Amino acid sequence: MPTVIRHCPTCGHDDLREQWESVDQAMNRGAMRATWVCPSCSWPEPEIVEVERPVAVPDDAR
Ligand SMILES: [Zn+2]
Repeated sequence: MPTVIRHCPTCGHDDLREQWESVDQAMNRGAMRATWVCPSCSWPEPEIVEVERPVAVPDDAR
């Protein structure tokens, strides 16, 4: 199943802290409206991307 995540277009970081089942679901849940900065480089504008690989949610994501 594809997973939708935020991806930093500047440094290439995949932010796995929030994940969605589809781009539509991500948009409906405010993925682009929420205040977000890249945890790696502080870039403020994520790309919403679909990844095919299964992604584990880290325990310290909160
Ligand atoms: Zn970044």
